[in-house]
Amino acid sequence: MGTLRMFKAAVVLITLGYCSLLVYQGSVNFNFIESRPGSVQAAFTLTTSEPVTDTKLQGSGQNKNITLDDIFISVKTSKHFHQTRLPHILNSWYLLAKEQTWFFTDGDNDTLKKLTNGHLINTNCSDTHQRAHLCCKTSVEYDWFLQSGKKWWCHFDDDNYVNVPRLLTKLQEFDPQEDWYLGRISVDKPVTLFILPKETKKKPSLKGSLWFGTFGAGVCISKSLALKMVPLASGGKFISMCNSIKLPDDITMGYLISHLLGVNMVVVREFHSHLEQMKLLPLKILRDQISFGYSTNNVLNVPGFDETYDPTRFLSLHCFLYPHFEFCPR
Ligand code: UDP
Ligand code: MN
Repeated sequence: MGTLRMFKAAVVLITLGYCSLLVYQGSVNFNFIESRPGSVQAAFTLTTSEPVTDTKLQGSGQNKNITLDDIFISVKTSKHFHQTRLPHILNSWYLLAKEQTWFFTDGDNDTLKKLTNGHLINTNCSDTHQRAHLCCKTSVEYDWFLQSGKKWWCHFDDDNYVNVPRLLTKLQEFDPQEDWYLGRISVDKPVTLFILPKETKKKPSLKGSLWFGTFGAGVCISKSLALKMVPLASGGKFISMCNSIKLPDDITMGYLISHLLGVNMVVVREFHSHLEQMKLLPLKILRDQISFGYSTNNVLNVPGFDETYDPTRFLSLHCFLYPHFEFCPR
């Protein structure tokens, strides 16, 4: 009897252990894909080269005729963030680009729609952080840009502050009639792509590396390049591409542009995401930067409003850069 009980207990323990191992492996796999730079599953061999880092050599600096009206700024958001993240944007940088900025979300919100003069688009994509749903929103952003007929598409996340005038002067360095993919690598290393064999005993085989602009810092694409992407990405084809290569939306964008179209990314160091330590950005360089981010315990060190009123520091940053706004302390 005692032996049977011990045997049963052992079976239960082994089963539990095995199950937790499975769950652990599952989550490792997920994190594996999301942590950057990381190693991700791929079903192809890559042939991309390193991005170009010296933008001064690339940009012609000759396009002063580009104005804010030539830029389509899309911000990816979700109904989960309508009350928490959007107010920080609507009360700060959005005030400098009301006509040019569009919000892509997954639910209706009449108040926000009114506030943004109809610039809140319900993509009808699902409201999760899963790859397919983020790809769905990106795909809609891209289609709206194409329809807008504008010369530049710049994507940002809803936890970005965009220094709008600086974004414009940066884009004026480039000709939108040429192919430009401007972005910032998440951690200054490429994503390494592996083929993960089905039987876990075999070692994954390296398939190459891919440089891509992280959407959390901002990515800009010229009209010429966006038009070349049409056969592969318009009308929802971008979603199919994400699904078939099983990569997140910004990495899929890098794959499409660098690998399939052969256009290397130009690194714009003035783009920033919360993957960097925000407080390490010195005050004296803030004016020259294009985008910023924030996350829990990771905000800019900028003087201004107190932290309970301005936890993201976006209002303080906005007043630091553009003190003439009425709500800024005098
Ligand atoms: N996002 C979304 N649906 C979700 C979660 C996130 O559309 O369910 C958007 C979010 O609004 C943001 C971007 O995806 O623009 C990145 O999300 P988040 O900043 O929460 O996560 P991160 O990838 O930066 O860790
Ligand atoms: Mn984020």
